[in-house]
Amino acid sequence: MDCIFCKIVAGEVPADILYRDELVIAFRDINPEAPVHVLIIPVKHIPSLADVTEADAPLVSRMISVANRIAEQEDVAEKGYRVAINCGEQGGQLVPHLHMHLLGGRQMSGKLG
Ligand code: AMP
Repeated sequence: MDCIFCKIVAGEVPADILYRDELVIAFRDINPEAPVHVLIIPVKHIPSLADVTEADAPLVSRMISVANRIAEQEDVAEKGYRVAINCGEQGGQLVPHLHMHLLGGRQMSGKLG
């Protein structure tokens, strides 16, 4: 499948991977928008948040747990951080493989869109 994030999962495209287990991987965003900008993605290809079902509850839970753990490791947990999922064209999603952005290390703006 011609998906850049699937290629990162498969090791075919290099990435700065911070975490990997059977459900998710996490790696640094190539174009960071904050001092800490990490993407947490499912190992399996899910195109977007809109494709997540009840059966994916363990996966979504793991993505959140991993985001919290990386926030601790990256030393932004205490001051706070933002987690965001863009969904679809008007949601600002550019890569069609579900991913959670973890942003921290600076004051986030009050605007979300
Ligand atoms: P989104 O707009 O929510 O789809 O975000 C996609 C994110 O993926 C952007 O922040 C990109 O900088 C990031 N990105 C795209 N290609 C790569 C890559 N090869 N390695 C790391 N991050 C990437």
